[in-house]
Order: sequence, then structure tokens, then C-alpha cells
Amino acid sequence: MNPEIYTVEHHKIPPEKIDQDAFYVIEKLRQSGHKAYLVGGGVRDLLLNVQPKDFDVSTSASPEEIRRVFRNAILIGRRFRLAHVRFGRKVIEVSTFRSGDTESNELIVRDNEWGSEEEDVMRRDFTINGLFYDPHRELVIDYVEGYRDLERKLLRTIGQPDLRFAQDPVRMIRLIKFCARFQLEIEPTTFEALLSCRQEIIKSSSARVLEELLRMLESGSSKKFFHLLQEYGLIMPLLPELAYFLKNKDLDSANFDLLSAIDQEVLKREQPPMDRAILLAALLFPLFDQYLKESLRSGEKAPHLGQIGTAALHVIDCVFSPFFALPRRLRGVTAFVLASQYRFTPLGESLGDKIERKLRLPKDLLTPFALRLFKCRSIATPALAPLYTLWVEKALYSAEADHSLETSTAIHEEREKFRRPRRQRH
Ligand code: ATP
Ligand code: MG
Repeated sequence: MNPEIYTVEHHKIPPEKIDQDAFYVIEKLRQSGHKAYLVGGGVRDLLLNVQPKDFDVSTSASPEEIRRVFRNAILIGRRFRLAHVRFGRKVIEVSTFRSGDTESNELIVRDNEWGSEEEDVMRRDFTINGLFYDPHRELVIDYVEGYRDLERKLLRTIGQPDLRFAQDPVRMIRLIKFCARFQLEIEPTTFEALLSCRQEIIKSSSARVLEELLRMLESGSSKKFFHLLQEYGLIMPLLPELAYFLKNKDLDSANFDLLSAIDQEVLKREQPPMDRAILLAALLFPLFDQYLKESLRSGEKAPHLGQIGTAALHVIDCVFSPFFALPRRLRGVTAFVLASQYRFTPLGESLGDKIERKLRLPKDLLTPFALRLFKCRSIATPALAPLYTLWVEKALYSAEADHSLETSTAIHEEREKFRRPRRQRH
């Protein structure tokens, strides 16, 4: 099949937007007699005029040939080896064109064979992710009408949607991710297939689904994403407890305000970025808060922080089981961030209460994480803002105290050095 070719007059991708290292990789492969293009999310983002997160390269060169061209390339993956070409901390992923069985409805359990450039496009998920860009000739090469779909703002699978979802159900989560991130419409047969295949989602690898969920919490579009996941019935098979909690809650409800606040914070791109545990705690906090308040209502005495920590672990396990297995650190830190919220806003204390107690901030390395979620809560619930300010002042004061302690110790040690009689060398 002949691809559609779009020249720079059409696509208007400014050459300076192409990552210099990716350009260098493509040029070197080309000069060594191979085909090489930018591919996937990077090309899509350039056409949508958003900053690409990564620039992936697809080539006709085999992994060994890639290694011959770049001595600093590292081959990764067992059956399907990709090359990582490093430039300082940046990695350009270079993969050989491959084919996939796009006709079968079997779950893909292993990866596929080497293929032609056209086959390499056909195995990809959505038409908007199936474009090549040749930076040397400044051409967009399109085998799947992805360019037109981008113009029409349409999300469509490459090939028959029900088969493509059955082969790899994670594609359904990816569909919703692109829909939320770029405000795209879902093409009707793709949408029907989503509704009929959604229960299949639990056949996919939980690690991959978790990775997509976490990436969306980091994306700045998490509110829209989780709302669409709920609306299209994908949260129910994955996170039933959360689905029950969100049932009949619309986008304007307070339950989505915290996600909206983390989206705002994420988009400020402050350093360090928010840890995944803070983001996960933001997703769970409204549910956890309701759980604690309901157990309090049933007449029990307000639990202390240790008990709240145990309850946080319990809620996390209930929400994520049976499908997901959270990594240990993520589970523990998320529980800490959740439980610490009740240090700032204790159970049973209403916001109007004058704070009589002394604000005690533990010298825990994770305390700033807890404060960051509290900041997002204060954005979602402005009545919390004065209290948040008090706690931040407290944190700054403690940090200053620590700092002066450190410097005074350092000065003291410095002095001691001079006081100590030097040993004579013999
Ligand atoms: P993001 O901006 O979130 O990284 P992306 O589209 O670049 O989105 P990646 O996971 O980086 O996503 O994948 C790179 C490319 O690989 C995609 O653009 C797509 O062409 C292809 N791809 C990724 N996941 C799948 C999948 N499950 N099935 C088929 N093709 C996929
Ligand atoms: Mg990508």
C-alpha cells in the first residue's frame, strides 16, 4: 500500500522542535544505508503542537546493526531487543520494524516478528500513533489515515477495534488516556468495541495497567481521565471499591476536586515533581476520608494516628485487590501520606475550631510529601488554606532550625579541627 505523504507546507512541523539527538540517530542510521524515522507519540505530539515527552525511532536496521552504528547503544529486552542510545541522561529508543498478527483475536502473549515499515505501523494501537516522520526530508508518512484523524480530532484503532482490544486490553485504557489528554472524539465502532470488550481489561497485565494509571495521575489530565474511566465502565472491573464510591458522582462533584487540584499542581512543573505516592493518595483520599468518618459515626472513639495508618493500609489493599499488586514502597508511602492528613486536620476537629494544640511536625523525610497533598486539599477546599499556611510556616521554621543546627554543628566541627593539636609526622 502506498502511504499518504505530507510535506512541510502541510504539517508545518518546525525543524527546531525535533530533538537534536533523535535527529542525529536518524541521520547516522540513514547514512549507514538504513531507513529510520521518528514514530509514535513523538510525531503525534509534534502535530498537535505539544512538547513530546520522548522521541522514539523506528528503523530497518537490526539490533546488531544499530549497535554497529552506535557504540554506546545498549540492547535491552530478551526476545525483542530494542536499542537504547544514551546522550547523558537522555535515552533515544531505537527499535527495528516489526510485524504483528493484527487479524487474530488471541491475547498477545509474546512479541512478534521483524517486518516492513508498513507492518510496523499496522501493529500499533491508534491511527494517530501510527505516523512516521522523516526529519531529513521533512515528510510525514501515513499508512493509516492518522494525519486526517488528527485533523478531525478522532481516535480510531488501526484495524478492527474489537480484535485489537481483545489482543491487548491495555489499549482500552490508552484510548481513554488520549481522549482525556487531547480532547479527542472516539470513532463510533471503536467506541462500541470499547463497551463490548471492557470486561476483558482484567486479562491484561496489572503492572502495565498500573503504569498507565500512574502516568495519567502525572499528566495534568487525571480528572477527565478517571471520570471517563468511570463513565465508560472501566473502573468497575479494575477498582470496584473506587467505582462504587464514585457511582453517580459527576465531574463537578467534590470527589473530583482533589484530582483537579493535583492536575493544576502538576502543570506548574515544580521541582521535584510530585511523587507517585502523593498522586495515588490524592486519588484515594475522598474515599478514605469517608471510610474513616463513617467508622467514627458508628460511635467509636477517634482513632490515633497509628490506627489511622493501619486503616490506610487496609483501604489501599481493599481498593487495589484483587487485580493490582502495588509495589511495597508505593503502598507504604501512600498510606503514610493518607494517614498524615489527620495530623493536619484531625478527625473530630471541625475547621471552625480554634487550634489550641501545638502544631507538631515530625522530622520525617516523607513529611513534605504529606504537606504537598495537604496543599492540594487546600486548593480543592479553600477553607483549608489558612490552616495549610500555618503548617507550612511551621515546616519552614523547623527547616530553618534544622539548618542553623546543622551549620552550627559544622562551624563547631571546623573550630575543633583547628583546636586539635595536629599529629606530628615522624
Ligand atoms: P505517551 O505520550 O503517554 O508516552 P505514547 O503513544 O508515546 O504515549 P508509549 O507507551 O510511549 O505511548 O508508546 C509508543 C508507541 O508505541 C505508541 O505511540 C504506539 O504507536 C505504540 N504502542 C504503545 N503501546 C501499544 C499497544 N498496547 N499496542 C500497540 N501499539 C502500542
Ligand atoms: Mg511515548
